Amino acid sequence: MKDTLVSLSKKNRDNIFLKNKLKIRCKCGHSEKITYYELLSGGEFSIGENTQTISPFISEGVIEETISITPINLARKCPVCGEDITAMFPLSLQDTISLLMSQPPDSQMYG
Ligand SMILES: [Zn+2]
Repeated sequence: MKDTLVSLSKKNRDNIFLKNKLKIRCKCGHSEKITYYELLSGGEFSIGENTQTISPFISEGVIEETISITPINLARKCPVCGEDITAMFPLSLQDTISLLMSQPPDSQMYG
């Protein structure tokens, strides 16, 4: 599954979604901003364990609906102290893949 995400992000490197930046901070004090593209295409993450969660979209007549979420755990080596900087990717695996699969219609406008 991880390989799928790596190749999918390489294939869609122009996707606007991948141009988002994430700020990560090491316990030594070093912090950096890195694009989603760098994180995902570089394979600096691991796929977490599938968890069930209550859907935030409650439809009428449904009290609670559980959906399956797979977290992406980032792990990037700190260039200063060499420790692993760990962080949680802001989107689930499912959301990330669906965003990568969808081509935004106006991608040229932001180029
Ligand atoms: Zn560090």
